[in-house]
Amino acid sequence: MSRSVLVTGGNRGIGRAIAEAFVAQGDQVAATTRSGGAPEGALDVRCDVTDAAQVDAVFTQVEEAHGPVEVLVANAGITADTLLLRMSTDDWSSVLDTNLTGSFHLAKRATKGMLRQRRGRLIFVSSVVGLLGSAGQANYAASKAGLVGLARSLARELGSRSITANVVAPGFVETDMTDVLSEEQRAAIKAQVPLGRYATPQEVAGAVTWLAGEGAAYVTGAVIPVDGGLGMGH
Ligand code: NDP
Repeated sequence: MSRSVLVTGGNRGIGRAIAEAFVAQGDQVAATTRSGGAPEGALDVRCDVTDAAQVDAVFTQVEEAHGPVEVLVANAGITADTLLLRMSTDDWSSVLDTNLTGSFHLAKRATKGMLRQRRGRLIFVSSVVGLLGSAGQANYAASKAGLVGLARSLARELGSRSITANVVAPGFVETDMTDVLSEEQRAAIKAQVPLGRYATPQEVAGAVTWLAGEGAAYVTGAVIPVDGGLGMGH
């Protein structure tokens, strides 16, 4: 069955792989971008997730094109890494606004249509560091931990309407976000990962499409790690 799927940050990295995976399954996919460049087969819609009015307008556009959104993948995210004493209020707010408040705007707007349909899948892309913590990433880790509280609260609020809310927590993935790390940092990270390598964006997409599919109908409030074993035990 072809569903209306909305993926934020669908032009690059993990979001692009997720959008492509849903397109390959035959779903009707809208990929939000700030700068354009949605993958082939997906509707390219412009949206800054920090702006609730833009989020609302995008959902209206997608509803007109594909019908009410049945699967939301809140993937858009940023980093602004630095140690706490050097972290400005802007470093903190920009990351929280995008990663956590943006996901709140998206989930709130998506839920409107899902409640009416009495079904829906909310999927939040968090990170292993939301659970482990990470020196130099207090803002990012807090935003990603916040997504777990958000998803689990929504799982409780919306479960009676057959709406699930889950989190995918990737480890290190080959994308622009991790391209900025030095060879030394990359080697140190790989040494801590039982599988001894980074994930591909497609491997994260596999967990997301599973959570959106029939096989995961009874899964809600879960945090699914896709981290090569890096976060085991948390
Ligand atoms: P990229 O840096 O490659 O891409 C980030 C995406 O988010 C881009 O599409 C970007 O759009 C979009 N985006 C950023 N800010 C906004 C905004 N305000 N409004 C709308 N879209 C925005 O990141 P990744 O693919 O690596 O990461 C995707 C998600 O996965 C993020 O949430 C990240 O935190 C998470 N993650 C990544 C890991 C990794 O190792 N790469 C590990 C764990 C989690 P634009 O092109 O317009 O800037």
